[in-house]
Amino acid sequence: MKIRVGHLYPDYLNIYADRGNIAVLARRAAWRGHELDVESVSMGDALRPGAHDLLYVGGGQDREQALVAVDLAAKAAAVHEAAADGAAVLAVCGGYQLLGRFYRDRDGVELPGIGLLPLVTIAGERRMIGDVLLDCDWAGRTLAGFENHAGRTVLDAGAEPLGRVIHGFGNDGESGFEGCRAGRVIGTYLHGPLLPRNPWFADWVLAQALAHAGGGEPPQLEPLADELESEAHAVAADRARERGGRF
Ligand code: GLN
Repeated sequence: MKIRVGHLYPDYLNIYADRGNIAVLARRAAWRGHELDVESVSMGDALRPGAHDLLYVGGGQDREQALVAVDLAAKAAAVHEAAADGAAVLAVCGGYQLLGRFYRDRDGVELPGIGLLPLVTIAGERRMIGDVLLDCDWAGRTLAGFENHAGRTVLDAGAEPLGRVIHGFGNDGESGFEGCRAGRVIGTYLHGPLLPRNPWFADWVLAQALAHAGGGEPPQLEPLADELESEAHAVAADRARERGGRF
């Protein structure tokens, strides 16, 4: 099957190799006989609802977020329509923050978000940097990655986090939770990139996109020989255990 991906602002929001997540999805899709068709959707580009099975956006510094926020706000209706139609959405760090209602940066400037996820973010003084390990009880799995953000994200009451923080700061260094999950829409602070060291989650994202592409339920993807990926996960988890969540 062809999986159509809309990569939002790859030329502005791409730090910590966030672009690598697309490479992992493309490879894991190809190993199952599927093809990833990636379209870059950036400044001034139209976003056609229904044109993508997966929307992806990476992270970036406050400066880049300020450059894209107004353009993304103009695409808000199309992103909402795509998500309501069942497309999957994966947003990392700066992109995650702009899926909320707003991001207030360190200078107190409020960048509009698109309100797709029930949350707001306000930058604090100290950056939260380091390795992270999460418990995703909804999947019975752990996620390991790297965070670097000044933003403190607060989820609305009743909102689902992506995971519980075992080691690291997470959304705000206090709530004990990281990320936000609303059906097939996922936001997370985890860079690294995230997907090479978390193959189960890469397959979960792929399965959501395939469900939209094929119109059915998320398929059970045949397992792959993920020794190297599992090792990378273990190394990242050890680093998080040793030093995650400390200023
Ligand atoms: N600029 C945002 C912050 O500092 C996001 C950073 C990022 O994407 N790593 O919180």
